Amino acid sequence: MLEYYNNKLKIESCELQEIAVKYGTPCYVYSLQQLRSNYLAYANALQNHGHRQQIFYAIKANSNLTILRILQQLGAGFDCVSGGEITRALQAGSIPEKIMFSGVGKTHAEIKMAIELGIHSINIESAEELIRVHAIAKELNLTANIAFRVNPNITIDSHPYISTGSHNNKFGIEYNAAFELYKHATTLSNLNICGITCHIGSQITSLEPFMQALDQILQLTQQLTEYNINLSFIDIGGGLGINYHNETPPTIAAYVNAIISKLKHCKLTPHIEPGRSIVGNAGVLLTKVEYVKTTANNNFAVVDAAMNDLMRPVLYDSYHEIMPAIIKPQASIKKYNIVGPVCESGDFLAHSRDLALAAGDLLILKDCGAYGSSMSSNYNTRPRGAEILVSGDKTYVIRDRETIAQLMQNEQNIDVRSILV
Ligand SMILES: *Cc1c(COP(=O)(O)O)cnc(C)c1O
Repeated sequence: MLEYYNNKLKIESCELQEIAVKYGTPCYVYSLQQLRSNYLAYANALQNHGHRQQIFYAIKANSNLTILRILQQLGAGFDCVSGGEITRALQAGSIPEKIMFSGVGKTHAEIKMAIELGIHSINIESAEELIRVHAIAKELNLTANIAFRVNPNITIDSHPYISTGSHNNKFGIEYNAAFELYKHATTLSNLNICGITCHIGSQITSLEPFMQALDQILQLTQQLTEYNINLSFIDIGGGLGINYHNETPPTIAAYVNAIISKLKHCKLTPHIEPGRSIVGNAGVLLTKVEYVKTTANNNFAVVDAAMNDLMRPVLYDSYHEIMPAIIKPQASIKKYNIVGPVCESGDFLAHSRDLALAAGDLLILKDCGAYGSSMSSNYNTRPRGAEILVSGDKTYVIRDRETIAQLMQNEQNIDVRSILV
């Protein structure tokens, strides 16, 4: 998807330099071809095993409406973690039956919305939530489709902030409490108990933790069947990692094959909720060098993208490979720290990279399609950049650059003199 041609970096058939001139920097640029091929890798692998597409794309990885519409057209359902994300899924054309609702803190209003819509499943994460969902369903005189998100207590080798499946974190129902909660749910009139789910974390680069989690979940499912609680789906969550820097995650096909073979004696329909592995390597962040600055110990390149545009480096200590938009064969290479203009020492994008840089140069950070734009903010009153979709030699603006006026529009013009008296 990214290739140099005459020393100029192209995404599909478009030069990144031309995209920068046309749309300005910083901006996110996505390859339709990569996005589609990632999704189809899941769909085809499932199809090879005779399963209908039961892929629920995790919207939080990248929630741009055009990206959602593309995935919806390709057949995806959606995993949502807020009422806002459910609204996005509907706006993207999804039917409620292809929407799941996850998350530890669903509000009354969000649950009401989900029940009224009749979504595929509300994935319950606590005993109190079960009571609340049932009470709301009863009040509405409707039936809520529910599953429990069970915490299989698996420790994974990932950053602690993106590990979710051990007993130390807030997610899911404790494994040992799940059976009793399922039993209790069968006594509640307005619930349709339809599945079991888990999600053990993100950026997982080996199959083993997924297999361990599945073993745990299958054991519980067996127990439920013996008690005559019959589910229709088993949801392994998301979490498959991608290669940012020397990681060697299994391919999407290998991952799907491993899951399906574990489930071969199980009659439940498998569901998957991938986020990162669908959008991560389909997007880059394009940024311009504003200044090069040398101090006693360091060379800094101050670029026009910052932690508000891409939070991953400071939040997760993440690594994004950096490539210049144009290679300058004669230029001398030095080690650079790539930093943004925000007034925080945590405002860095990369450390110690071998590059030949000067003011005005364009850089791209690879693998920024997931948890890039969707985590961006307006800190330092910085308007978020545009988002551009590339298909072959065509470019489409899928999100306009924000204006400063937009950032201030919700702050009323109160006459403070009347407050100060
Ligand atoms: C975030 C999340 C996902 C997606 O995780 P990825 O690592 O992006 O694949 C799936 N399911 C749930 C419940 C999530 O919270």
